[in-house]
Amino acid sequence: MLHANENYSKIRASYLFTEIAHRVSAYQAANPDAKIIRLGIGDVTEPLAPAVVAAMHRAVDDEAARGTFHGYGPEQGYAFLREKIAECDFKARGIDVAADEIFVSDGAKCDCGNIQELFTPDVKIAVGDPVYPVYVDTNVMAGRTGANDGGRYAGLVYLECNAANGFVPDPSAAAGCDIVYLCYPNNPTGAVATLADLQKWVDWARANKSLLLFDAAYEAFIRTPGIPHSIYECKGARECAIEFRSYSKTAGFTGVRCGYSVVPKGLCAYAKDGSPVELRPLWTRRQTTKFNGASYIAQRGAEAVYSPEGAAQTKATVDFYLENGRLMKAALEKLGYAVAGGGDSPYLWVDVKSDSWKAFDRLLESANIVVTPGAGFGRAGEGYIRISSFNSRENVLEAIERFGKAL
Ligand SMILES: *Cc1c(COP(=O)(O)O)cnc(C)c1O
Repeated sequence: MLHANENYSKIRASYLFTEIAHRVSAYQAANPDAKIIRLGIGDVTEPLAPAVVAAMHRAVDDEAARGTFHGYGPEQGYAFLREKIAECDFKARGIDVAADEIFVSDGAKCDCGNIQELFTPDVKIAVGDPVYPVYVDTNVMAGRTGANDGGRYAGLVYLECNAANGFVPDPSAAAGCDIVYLCYPNNPTGAVATLADLQKWVDWARANKSLLLFDAAYEAFIRTPGIPHSIYECKGARECAIEFRSYSKTAGFTGVRCGYSVVPKGLCAYAKDGSPVELRPLWTRRQTTKFNGASYIAQRGAEAVYSPEGAAQTKATVDFYLENGRLMKAALEKLGYAVAGGGDSPYLWVDVKSDSWKAFDRLLESANIVVTPGAGFGRAGEGYIRISSFNSRENVLEAIERFGKAL
């Protein structure tokens, strides 16, 4: 008899976004004239930078001629892109990452989800709470957890992120864990970690032979000087951390698809007998076996993000989102709300001093605004809503006016 992987049935159905869609469509059906503004979106809204579009048009033309046609590319990504990444994302910031430690992919979600294949089923995993669900669900599918009980999976360690710890957990909460997922700037809280915060985690991971999986998908939103853009700004991080990056939020590539991970040379896990096993050859093996590379066109587009025009244009778009966030944050604070996030991230994390879903309903009904209830990201998200800055200025200004009337 054919047996299904029952770990999949442990996953709680994507309750959050289905429930939001359900409540919004019920409200819209009952109130057909309501002009609903969606501030729950985790997707970008602005088009690609002209320099990126031009580069991708040229890449399509390359594919149209025998002499410049590209078929299968290198699984780790084209050298033209990996060298640009090493130069611009790392060397320019004084960070030691080489082109052959970079693995280009079709996005950070896949990399965050696939990396766990390199480790045994019994490794102990820690995640933040609230959390980006990919880190959790991919480990549930792999059989690393028990059942979901009251919103938490047995066997996973949840690191509470709250106002008291500035939404950055302390390593003391991860005692005994082999792998810790960290995401800064954070989705959903919008919090950033300081160099001292991250150095503590790096020191802890090295001392415990543990691994940090650092998701830097929102790196491009950092504006505060001194906030680390990469985990490798910490001393010793090359020995204990993998980093994930994406062009999705940086350059609007959510539909184009391109990202990369960094697996430094010398970074090791351990065999049962305690001997070190280098991870970079394992990830190379995994990618060359199961992945055939990001498209040539997408990689030419990503390369253009580093051109002078591409860099200026993508920065202007990120600045536009940050300004959306700044305007909404100022308005909510004026109304008396404590708002975390914004500033260095596209997300505002608003303390609503009530049940997350009650706040969701109240905003939907009295302001026709859709937000994301914090409780949907984990138990520690209760009492908060997430507001996204990915929207048009027109909608943002209209939303601010409605906040003023409804809150
Ligand atoms: C959007 C996002 C990503 C990027 O995913 P892609 O697959 O590159 O589009 C990664 N991590 C987090 C936390 C995100 O919010």
